[in-house]
Amino acid sequence: MNQLFIYGLLLEGLEAFCKEHRQPAFRAKQIWDWLYVKRVSSFDEMKNLPADLRAKLADHFIFQCLEKLETKGDPGETQKLLFKLGDNELIETVIIPAPRRGTNTVCLSSQVGCRFGCAFCASGQKGVIRNLTAGEIVGEVMEVANVLGGRPDNVVFMGIGEPFDNYDEVLKAVRILNHPDGLCIGARRITISTCGVVSGIQMLAEEGLQVELSVSLHAPDEEVRASLMPVNETWPLEELMDACRAYTEKTKRIITFEYTLIKDVNDSAAQARQLVKLLKKFNCRVNLIPLSPVEEFDGERPDSETMKTFFQTLENAGINTTLRDSKGSALKAACGQLRARRIG
Ligand code: SF4
Repeated sequence: MNQLFIYGLLLEGLEAFCKEHRQPAFRAKQIWDWLYVKRVSSFDEMKNLPADLRAKLADHFIFQCLEKLETKGDPGETQKLLFKLGDNELIETVIIPAPRRGTNTVCLSSQVGCRFGCAFCASGQKGVIRNLTAGEIVGEVMEVANVLGGRPDNVVFMGIGEPFDNYDEVLKAVRILNHPDGLCIGARRITISTCGVVSGIQMLAEEGLQVELSVSLHAPDEEVRASLMPVNETWPLEELMDACRAYTEKTKRIITFEYTLIKDVNDSAAQARQLVKLLKKFNCRVNLIPLSPVEEFDGERPDSETMKTFFQTLENAGINTTLRDSKGSALKAACGQLRARRIG
């Protein structure tokens, strides 16, 4: 029998399983509770289920979908986890603590590799191998919950892969993570980050979900953006901004634009003014992130004076801007390197 990952089922899926096996509907809620509230790791531990149901569950589903191969970083600090999947493919998951707030954010992978090939990203250099299933994505969160001793507070889809290139499984995982009787990670604590896949932005606008959307811009004009992000050939900046406008109108939600500052590429005062022009009518936030050097990209971070000027230009124009230089952003930028090193 082809066994599925138990973490890939919505509560409705468990209810259907119980119905099919002539079990009352409340059993599905009990299983859900064991999975996501008590966080057990075997069906044997689900003590209030009849033995025959536990046996049927074990026949149909498996828990273990990720094997942890490597951890980089110490507890309490940013930690990168390298996982092996059932087919020996590798992914990375990052835990980013915010000690002052006492919270933890998990940065999830959504694909093995990525086909978008952004210039400064280790994950996109060798293309995409496959999508992760919702069960594998939720499995990342459950592994992190084991490391932390509890569920993470925030989830960001900013690891390996483009979440909108795996739309259905990512959205299914979001619904599992968000379920009020399970992990109950609030939708506003879940961020989907896209490199600019317009079709995904359009679909998300119709979902009625309160999740956060983050869009990587990295340049205020078509030419520079195309040189950094091949996605710009499919969805040019102009089309992307139209989709973002339509998204904010439809959902009344704020978009966060990510902008990696790269010396002599996209960091000039003129480019800051261009960015203001592009965003000034938007209800948005901007995250400026100094480039973290990666082997794959021959670029440098700007000096701090240049970054401050860029930041100030946006702030003076009334755009809510953050200039981040945290370990988290450094790790995020370098996400995919553990995997890249292993696959050579
Ligand atoms: S930055 Fe994101 S979209 Fe771009 S190549 Fe890397 S993983 Fe893919």
